[in-house]
Amino acid sequence: MGATIAAGGLCGWSLKDALAQPLERLAQGIPTVVLGQTKWESKIVGLGTIFRPEGQWTKKESDAVIGMLIENGINLIETAAVYGDAEERVGSALRPFRRDKVFLIVKSTKVTKDGLLRQLESSLAKLRTDYADCLMLHNYSTFIEYDRVMGPGGGFEALLQAQKDGKARFLGISSHGCSVIMSAMKSGKFDLFVLPFNAAHREFARALDLAVRLKANTLIMKPFGGSGLLKYNDKDPLQLPVTLSVAECLGYVLSHPGARMAIPNMSTPEHVKGVLAAAATFRPLSADEKKAVEAKGDRVHAGVCLECPKPCDKACRTRVPVSYILSHVQDMHRLGYNHRRWGDEYQVLEHDFMDCDGCGECEKACPRKLSIRKELENYEKTIRENHFADVLMFEKTYR
Ligand code: SF4
Ligand code: SF4
Repeated sequence: MGATIAAGGLCGWSLKDALAQPLERLAQGIPTVVLGQTKWESKIVGLGTIFRPEGQWTKKESDAVIGMLIENGINLIETAAVYGDAEERVGSALRPFRRDKVFLIVKSTKVTKDGLLRQLESSLAKLRTDYADCLMLHNYSTFIEYDRVMGPGGGFEALLQAQKDGKARFLGISSHGCSVIMSAMKSGKFDLFVLPFNAAHREFARALDLAVRLKANTLIMKPFGGSGLLKYNDKDPLQLPVTLSVAECLGYVLSHPGARMAIPNMSTPEHVKGVLAAAATFRPLSADEKKAVEAKGDRVHAGVCLECPKPCDKACRTRVPVSYILSHVQDMHRLGYNHRRWGDEYQVLEHDFMDCDGCGECEKACPRKLSIRKELENYEKTIRENHFADVLMFEKTYR
């Protein structure tokens, strides 16, 4: 566990007992951590705010739940211009509170200085505030992108400008590229780092090891898998599908000494309760417990297409876009079947799953030994059951 996580919480309570408590009690019982040079004392769980379509939060619910979280000490919220209407919702929920009750992270994907400064103005207006506690470069995962945003006229200059103008107190970066985030940590230019880490995807452990050495402040996104691998279970707020529980995932992530806190998205008010119960009863896992959780994570991982160099596509004589379909299936689980993306960003495929003749060559080529033919069958079923018409669409960049 991060040595700076304060003792406290509802340790000694069973999760089921905790779940029976009112949300307020749970939120109050969550241990805290101080985020290094920002000196902000935060609960070990903050709020990531992609309001997923399947979550179906009404505006009233997001006002009420975010308000309740703030009242009870969940005082770090991470949002981004590209998270749908998240900024407006957070801005609305923050209205009754003093601005300094919450550490607000604002993220921007804009690469240029001018673009980022313009987007910052728009974000601050939606959030109904005149400054971000941390302004972050959002999702810089390759060195090509990173070098561009850090170069002359790039977005990092906007971060410095915003800091000079009093519109950003601290600076940060989020990334899905392990080497990139490690390079950013070594640069000494950022105060906070957002990176993905969970029991199934542990690639970023080496970045967290570096964070320990550099005393870098890391916030963990996707502690429950994020990409739908460990999607919330609607019937039981403590249990994730497959083999892992909310408490195991959170316990695993926060037990890494380089992880300061987690910022999960919580899809519905019920999920909020499951996450708060797990956080309030958090205790660091023992080495054996970590191994056991990792073994479960490996089982989850084993069934997932990692979009490797796609030998499956090359093996297919009838040109079924196997890797695309498998990643589409995962995205559909993650974003929901009705996500607008399916209509907006795709064009007609030349081939699809109907071209599969069942030869099995793709499975022989797949290093993960996935049951691709079964997945294609399920895909067709899903499309039919959901009256999903965009099956023949795919991204322009695919070819
Ligand atoms: S099983 Fe289907 S998708 Fe796989 S290689 Fe054969 S034809 Fe292509
Ligand atoms: S070979 Fe397997 S893991 Fe790689 S892209 Fe194809 S289905 Fe996914």
